[in-house]
Amino acid sequence: MNFILLLGRNGQIGWELQRSLAPLGELVALDRHSTGTDGGCGDLHNLEGLRETVLRLRPTVIVNAAAHTAVDRAEGEPDLARRLNALAPGVLAEAAHEVGALLVHYSTDYVFDGSGTAPWSEDAATGPLSVYGQTKLDGEHLLSAASNRHLIFRTSWVHAARGNNFARTMLRLAQERDRLTVIDDQFGAPTGAELIADVTAHAIRQTLRDDACCGTYHLAAAGETTWNGYARFVLDTARALKPDLVIKAREVAPVPTSAFSTPAQRPLNSRLDTSRLRGTFGLNLPDWQQGVRRMLAEIL
Ligand code: NDP
Repeated sequence: MNFILLLGRNGQIGWELQRSLAPLGELVALDRHSTGTDGGCGDLHNLEGLRETVLRLRPTVIVNAAAHTAVDRAEGEPDLARRLNALAPGVLAEAAHEVGALLVHYSTDYVFDGSGTAPWSEDAATGPLSVYGQTKLDGEHLLSAASNRHLIFRTSWVHAARGNNFARTMLRLAQERDRLTVIDDQFGAPTGAELIADVTAHAIRQTLRDDACCGTYHLAAAGETTWNGYARFVLDTARALKPDLVIKAREVAPVPTSAFSTPAQRPLNSRLDTSRLRGTFGLNLPDWQQGVRRMLAEIL
């Protein structure tokens, strides 16, 4: 039977992975506070603890859903971001290689510079604009150098019913204000943590049978929108799902990225070409609206 070690069990994706990975084998799910009594160390900051945990547990599969995901905060704490997003995946890959485990890891559209309008393929030149993007890219490189038996999924604009997210923020603001201003020149696809977790489980099953499936894949819902289009969809869907919800905002005004000053620069073009993933694993990726509608039905 497979033995799966999951790190980052309480994150958006980690939470959904606890559900989707359960049928694949015995699962040990850790978070940053886990200790020996929970099965091992799940703190990405503790590189030696991570190594010792993998060597002792000898899992068949390691899934790393933990990361430093606070994009703006990372600009002010690059060493911490590098340790969690780059060094830790590197150590996990070294240990995975030693015990022969398949390592599954997540990366981001922020490894690209966001130029142009075409969807990025996995082999397109990278050019991160932020500390977060750079450390995630470094993590990909360290991981790949230490172990060939890996799956790296680059995803984008993740949402989940659990935890804070853009949709929740828009719903809250729309109840407080008459007018919202939301960026309309960044393009991407909101992608549900549920979808990512389900695709991950499917891909693991297939890769355990055929090592040739190992590699880097773009994983995002189909279609594209802007943050502004996403916000409008959230409010329209919320009104339809819950007519008694009081939404004050009558307008979601489009503004350029330059209207907001944030510590980290974000890519304008976050479109990801998912044809490699769909072709290799025989999967269909639904439109982004489907996942957002489902999340709203859950949280409203
Ligand atoms: P979340 O922020 O929801 O989850 C990240 C998890 O990492 C949290 O549970 C957090 O724990 C945990 N974590 C933080 N620091 C440590 C640490 N030192 N040791 C162990 N765990 C730690 O992120 P997502 O689920 O959205 O992201 C998962 C992956 O997907 C990441 O690799 C991310 O880079 C990638 N990704 C995410 C995108 C997004 O829009 N969110 C877009 C593209 C890629 P705690 O809850 O205790 O803080």
